[in-house]
Order: sequence, then C-alpha cells, then structure tokens
Amino acid sequence: MLNAEFNKETFKNSVKENVKMLYRKNLEEASQQEIYQAVCYAVKDVIIDNWLKTQKAMDEQDPKILYYMSMEFLMGRALGNNLINLTAYKQVQEALDEMGLNLNLLEDQERDPALGNGGLGRLAACFLDSLATLGYPAYGCGIRYKYGMFKQQIRDGYQVEVPDNWLKHGYPFELKRPEYAKEVKFGGYVAQEYDETTGRVNFVQKDYQSVNAIPYDMPIVGYDNDVVNTLTIWDAEAIQDFSLDSFDKGDYHKAVEQENLAKTIVEVLYPNDNHYEGKELRLKQQYFFISASVQRAVAKYKKHHDDIIKLYEKVTFQLNDTHPTVAVPELMRILMDVEGLGWDEAWEITTKTCAYTNHTIMAEALEKWPVDLFSRLLPRIYQIVEEINRRFLIQVREQYPGDEEKVRQMAVIYDGQVHMARLAIVGGYSVNGVAKLHTEILKKQTLKDFYEMTPEKFNNKTNGITQRRFLLHGNPLLADWVTEYAGNGWITDLPKIKKIAELADDTQAQKEFMEIKHKNKVRLAKYIKEHNGIDVDPNSIFDVQVKRLHEYKRQFMNILHIMYLYDRLKKNPDMPFYPRTFIFGAKASAGYERAKAIIKLINSVGDVVNNDPTIKGKIKVVFIEDYRVSNAELIFAAADVSEQISTASKEASGTGNMKFMLNGALTLGTMDGANVEIVEEVGKENAFIFGLSADQVIEYENNYTYDPMSYFIHDQDIHNVVMDLISGRYSNGDTMMFRDLYDSLLTPKNAPRPDMYFTLADFKSYAAAQERVEDKYRNTSAWARSAILNTAHSGKFTSDRTIQQYVDDIWHLDKITVRK
Ligand SMILES: *Cc1c(COP(=O)(O)O)cnc(C)c1O
Repeated sequence: MLNAEFNKETFKNSVKENVKMLYRKNLEEASQQEIYQAVCYAVKDVIIDNWLKTQKAMDEQDPKILYYMSMEFLMGRALGNNLINLTAYKQVQEALDEMGLNLNLLEDQERDPALGNGGLGRLAACFLDSLATLGYPAYGCGIRYKYGMFKQQIRDGYQVEVPDNWLKHGYPFELKRPEYAKEVKFGGYVAQEYDETTGRVNFVQKDYQSVNAIPYDMPIVGYDNDVVNTLTIWDAEAIQDFSLDSFDKGDYHKAVEQENLAKTIVEVLYPNDNHYEGKELRLKQQYFFISASVQRAVAKYKKHHDDIIKLYEKVTFQLNDTHPTVAVPELMRILMDVEGLGWDEAWEITTKTCAYTNHTIMAEALEKWPVDLFSRLLPRIYQIVEEINRRFLIQVREQYPGDEEKVRQMAVIYDGQVHMARLAIVGGYSVNGVAKLHTEILKKQTLKDFYEMTPEKFNNKTNGITQRRFLLHGNPLLADWVTEYAGNGWITDLPKIKKIAELADDTQAQKEFMEIKHKNKVRLAKYIKEHNGIDVDPNSIFDVQVKRLHEYKRQFMNILHIMYLYDRLKKNPDMPFYPRTFIFGAKASAGYERAKAIIKLINSVGDVVNNDPTIKGKIKVVFIEDYRVSNAELIFAAADVSEQISTASKEASGTGNMKFMLNGALTLGTMDGANVEIVEEVGKENAFIFGLSADQVIEYENNYTYDPMSYFIHDQDIHNVVMDLISGRYSNGDTMMFRDLYDSLLTPKNAPRPDMYFTLADFKSYAAAQERVEDKYRNTSAWARSAILNTAHSGKFTSDRTIQQYVDDIWHLDKITVRK
C-alpha cells in the first residue's frame, strides 16, 4: 500500500529523477506529457512490488485461476485509477501541488487506452477492478491492438474517424514479456501420422503460416489490499526462424506473408458494437489471442501440476460473448494433440473449464462463420468442431427422435455455417445472461431449446460497474459528501451507501446534494465551452444520452422529441418551459450509415436550435465529440436525467444506466435490460418509465401487427415532426439530407419492415414522460429527494456484487491474501 509508506519527499524526488533519466531534462524544462510519464513511472515502482508479492502469493497458495477472455477491454485512463486504488490519490495531488503541478492536468495528458467499443469492453474493465479488489486470482486476456477505438471528430456535423495511435508516446504501465511468447498457426492442412511408439494417430498441421504472440502485462491494482492482478494483451510479431541464404522462392513468399500476417492481425479493433461482421481478419484475431491465452494457461498449470486431467480444478475460462468461443476447440486440440488425451477425457475437462456470457439477443449480432472460411483458416480446429457437432447431434436426436426442427435450431454447424453461440453453449458448463429480463428472454425465446435440454447450465448475472472509477474518481465532491455521512465503507461495499437515504428528506442535505450537482454541471459546462464553443446554463436540466449510436438505443427518438419541443416553443413562445440542455455523446461504427445520419441530424438540429434567439436559450443541444471513458466520468457526475430509452427487449443490460444512477441522475427509460432492476431498487416514483414492454414488442414482432403508418396518419404531432425530417427545416432547405431516416420510419429501404425499433409507437408516451421530468424538476426538493434516493439505492449495481455472484455460482474461486 502506497498510503502507509507514502513519503511525499521520496515521491517528489522520484518524479524529478524520472524526468532526468527519461528525458535528460530538469522539471522546469519538461513538458506536461513528459512529467505525466515521470509520475507514472514513480507510481509503477510502487505497483511492481505488490505485483511481485501477488505473484508469489499465487505460487504459494496455488489457487484456482480465472481467465477472463475478451476481445475488448475498455480500460480508460490508468494513472488516476491506480492512485485511487493505491489510496494515494490525495497525497500525490498534494505532493504535486507543492511542486507547482496539477494532477488533473497531468491526468489529461493520458490517452484513454480504448481497446473496446462500449458496454461489453467496459464491463470487462470493471470486472478486472472488482476481481483485484475482492482478492480473486484472475487474468484478463485480450489483444494489444495497435489502433484502438477511433477518435471521433465532428466536422460540419458529420462524424469523421481518426486513427487512435494510443501507443505513440509509449504506455508507461505495460510490461513486455517476450519469454512467454507462443506460436499461433493458421491455414495449411492436417496430416494424420501414425506414431509407432505410442500406436496412436497424430494430427499434424502442415504448410501453415504462423505468428509469434508476445504478451504485454498491465497491472490491475486492487483497492487498498496490495493485490495486483494482470491484464495480458497479446501483440503479434513475425516468426524469424529462417535463414536468408537457404531461401528458395517459396520460402521468400512465405516469409513475407508471415510478416504481413503478424502486422495486420493486431492492427486495429473492429469498431462494431452489437453487430456482427464476418471478416476473415476478425476470426484470425479471435484465434490468435485465444490460442496464445489457452497455451499460456495450460503451461502455467503444468508448471505446478502434472495431472492435466484435473485442469478444471485450477483453471476456468469465462468467454465474454461469443468472440472467444474458439477457446472450446482450442483447449480440446491442446488436450488431445499436445497432451495426448482421448476425446472423452478432453471433452470432460473442456466442458468443465469453459463458461459463456451472452450479451445480446439481436439476430444481426449473432456470430456465424462460413464453413469454407473457418476450415481453411483453422483446419484442425474445424475438424474438432465437426466432431463436437456430430456427437452433439446424436444426443439431440436421441432426446428428440424425428424432430429435425430441433436439429435446425441447435446444430453447431448448420447450413454451411459454424454457429458460435451454440458452440459456446455445448462446450461449456455455464451460460449466463446479463440482466434478469435478458436471461428470461434467453430461456423463453432465443435459447429455448438449449435451456430445455440443459436448464442447469443457465443462470443470470446482472451486470455492474465499479464505484471506484465512477464515483470515487469521477465525482470526488459527491464521494466526499457520501463518506462524510455514511463513512467510507461504500468504496468496497457499495450497499453501505444506502445510509444516505436517511438524508433524502433533509432540506439541508438536499441543498448540499444539489450544490454538488451544480458544481459538476459547471465543470461539464466548462468542458463543453472549451470543446464545442457552446454556452450552456448549469441551471438548466442536464438531460443526457451517452452510449454507442445504434438504432435500437433510439437516439433518433430523443432528437425527434427535441424537434417536437422546439416546434411547440416556436409556435407558442410563452408556454411554460423549464430550460433544458440536451447532451449527446456517441460513436457510430464507421460503416453504419444510418447511425451516422442520426449524428448529423443531432448536430443539425443543434445548429438551428442553439442559434435561434427567439427561443431565448431555453433549449440547447450539445454533441460531445469522442465520447470515451475519461469524459464519461465528467458527464455522469453532471447529469440530471439519464436517457435509457432502448426499444424494450433489445438492450441486454446496459451499464451506463447504473453509472448515472450512482451519480444521482433520474432514469428516463423503458422497461428494458437492467432498467427493470434499477426501478425495482429505487422505486417507480423516483424514475420516469414509459413505452412498450418487452412482451409487447416481442408480440408485435412475432405477429407482424405493428403499423407505424397509423401513428403517422392519426397523430398530428407525430405527423409534423416526421415531416420536418424532409421539410428542409434542419438542412438549409435540403429535403433529401434526412430522407433515409424518414424512410426508415415509414417506407424502409433495405430493411424487412418500417420502424423496426417502434419509435412512433413509443413517441407519445416518451413525450409524456418528458413532461413529468419537467414537472418534477420544478419542485427542487422533490427532485433532490429522488436524486439522493437514486444514489442511495445503487448498491446492487456494483460490479463487486456481480463478481461475487460469478464466484459463488460459476467459478468457485478462493481469495488470495497478499498483505503480510
Ligand atoms: C458505460 C459505458 C458504455 C456503455 O453504455 P450503455 O449506456 O450501457 O450502452 C459505453 N461507453 C463508455 C465509454 C462507457 O463508459
């Protein structure tokens, strides 16, 4: 722990020495970036000692280890978070103050390591924080993308993607571990070779290309417990075991190809969120990091154990969505081809080691790989998948004789495609959804047949978030206020925050709470002024929707409602209206044209509304560029209203909703994902719920009975606002600019049906809920009461709780102790 041993003078000296050593400069000559790096190395020194101690404790205590396998880890900045978890934040801040340096400004020098798209990657990051804080031995396993999530710029209202070269200045906290490199093989063919000594047939991959997977370790600091876990991200390097002079033409080509393979494989993160894109390179990325991670896990196990049969007693793999599902056949391959086990033994071990988390029910997100691509790229893995499928279908046909519909619904290989979710379910011991409603839909609809066959595999683990980043670091004013009244137990035991519910009716406490919110709104207003050049009023309602841009998340409905409000205000300037600042932040996948059109619409509406003097600044629309973890922390702290307005049944859980709640924002949302449980905790009277239920949406979908045109024809307000998409009002007279958005509601092009996300069906109840928001905000005391109760009842949504449930129901890990 830095706290106990922390010595200001030592730390200051360390920073000065680091600047000298790294840059041959004195402090006065060094740039902010250079000082930031020097501070990081000073902090890393402290972390390294605990990292070693944790390794030693793991070697001595021989615990079962979790490998959390994820294509994405949306870590956000490390410096501030590490200081928080070392309980040294305030002391370092003081030390730097005395040197004339500002910790916040230094933190701003750090590029967000953005190795993820959105919720799924951020969940993985929150889980690592909770695992380390609870003292569970765990490795994150991922990819060291050279370019993470793109940087978003808004030019002329349009999204422009700029490459995110996050490693440009080097990443101070990572540690390269070339001694643990692993070879990963692609392509070629599988030869069967008879081994005379064993009498077995060996399967040997020939004529393949391979890359060297090089692990980089990043420290994951537990809160105030000396535990430092590891996130391993894999880089690819070319294999260089050839000598130039022995080259014939074929060798030369192969060498260049292998060089290219290594270069391209970790080049860039695919910027798709909740959407599947069947690119060959993506499958290469998946197998690359999974093969390396499984090899490393098995090697680590074998260092201390010689009975591979009991691997599952010390090792478990959690697959974050289907992206890491090749772990199932890869573990089978290693157990059979390398360790020499037979199929049945290998299968028993594998199915006791792998567990799968489902993140979506939407058809367009389900991963299916064409058999020809899969078998060409991973010939041995494909053989194993075929055999898994063959044996599984025998079971299905035994259990459901003559029911070929079951085979269609459950086959791992069907219609020329490998179904990854089915493979993950068949090859694992646990399948979990990420919120109660989502898990119920999985059991009753999406994965019904699998649930009926193996109900014991299915369970729910409602997502969570870490309060250390999203309250302690992101909202220090509220964190201190909570601690003053309820003690600091909430930092590692969030349900303790409930004590502040006692303050909900206390006028003085309400005033203090709203003053803190106001200061956070001033902080965000300053950020907006600096980045957007827009003046926003901290006394207005800060109404926020920040999340990936997706049709199912319905940013479109939000902006349509703003257009509707603006129109009403224009026609009726003196109508009662409480000033509102609508804040958006969202990246659209680079190839998702309709999502990009929605971004343009938001910015175009903003241009008109923000610059119309006749509405006297009553509505402001702000689009925050490059939404990411670092600015998210500022945004949650400043929000009054949390927009969680997805079409019911489409948002598996959401985690943004939880971050807002923790920071005392009131949820305006549908009964979808974890919103259902948020309302359960805080009470319906402290949220604004509207819209179709998941059951209603699913019924419409099954019966094809939804008719958006009837809303358009019969509701004058809806008619007007939809027509404004093609009136030119927000596009300098250009009636075509938003034509596709108009069409998507009424006459879809390239879509199976109009208004697939039920925007028009929910519009009026959304508008009504927005009126309830305004009415409530006019009553400051009632609002403050509800806001306090939201923070007070957010205890369930800590990722500490989620992780403890994974441990109890799925992983069965034991804690390690590091402190002497
Ligand atoms: C929490 C978070 C998300 C997920 O937000 P949802 O509203 O749950 O979709 C996405 N991006 C960032 C940067 C986050 O912090």
